Amino acid sequence: MPKKDNLELPRIVKILDIVEENPDVKTIFFEDDFEAYPGQFVMVWIPSVDEVPMSVSYLGEKKGITVKNVGKATSSLCKLKPGDKIGIRGPHGTFFEATGDSLLVVAGGIGIAPLAPLMENAHNIGKQITLAFGAKSKSELLFINRLKGCSRELNISTDDGSLGFHGFVSDLVEDILKKQSFDEILCCGPEIMIKKIADLAKLNGIPLQASLERYMKCGVGICDSCAIDGFHVCIDGPVFSGKILSELADFGRFRRDACGRRVEL
Ligand SMILES: Cc1cc2nc3c(=O)[nH]c(=O)nc-3n(C[C@H](O)[C@H](O)[C@H](O)COP(=O)(O)OP(=O)(O)OC[C@H]3O[C@@H](n4cnc5c(N)ncnc54)[C@H](O)[C@@H]3O)c2cc1C
Repeated sequence: MPKKDNLELPRIVKILDIVEENPDVKTIFFEDDFEAYPGQFVMVWIPSVDEVPMSVSYLGEKKGITVKNVGKATSSLCKLKPGDKIGIRGPHGTFFEATGDSLLVVAGGIGIAPLAPLMENAHNIGKQITLAFGAKSKSELLFINRLKGCSRELNISTDDGSLGFHGFVSDLVEDILKKQSFDEILCCGPEIMIKKIADLAKLNGIPLQASLERYMKCGVGICDSCAIDGFHVCIDGPVFSGKILSELADFGRFRRDACGRRVEL
């Protein structure tokens, strides 16, 4: 087991178990001894492939990351088996802090990964949680039973109308906010979606916390890959307040590619 004060150093961990959440997403449980808060991420090293950031999706004794297969590193992760080994650094970054009593949690696709443990922790201390969870299609939803257990209201949207509200989760949230108010909105998903939720939060005067996903190489504020208007997503984020996001010119408009070029979202 690694020493808790050496968490910034890479360590090799053994995969204990793998759960297929849907055809593109797997949760990898591994043996490691660290404490993380919801929203924090680890840098995951796949030997001979790459090192990529992944939110910690299970924070209990058995730690887990939930991986969507989108490219080289994630497809390699999705091919691993129990008993295989990966490298881990962290946990890194800022985290969600549910300070209000009534929470609106908004997730887009794999954005549910850091929000599910937040919901569990908040539910355990008596917070009232309404979830709006959007995916492209019914088959891309995940953790549904886990989420039912910790939300007062579970609202689903799918872009193709295969389950729940037919349309984007931001339109669903707009409808929800016409009927109810909340102390706080907590959000993770594609940045375009977060931008729409940030605009709705501002319009309705509700404080927001949102986790940004940016290209990341070092995860500790050195390489500048995840720079956004003077901030680094790896150390100043990934979770930012709505107030900070509203001051970032690139938020919802530009990201940086693997070479550091500023490209439109
Ligand atoms: C803080 C944070 C937490 C994340 N948590 C999760 C999670 O819980 N589950 C999950 O499935 N994904 C998560 N991601 C995204 C994940 O890191 C990328 O999908 C992964 O790095 C893609 O690597 P690849 O080699 O498979 O894809 P590539 O073949 O390199 O590219 C596929 C796509 O992923 C983007 N991408 C590539 N490398 C990175 C990188 N290092 N960081 C961000 N985007 C990248 C590319 O721009 C491209 O659009 C998180 C990202 C961040 C920044």
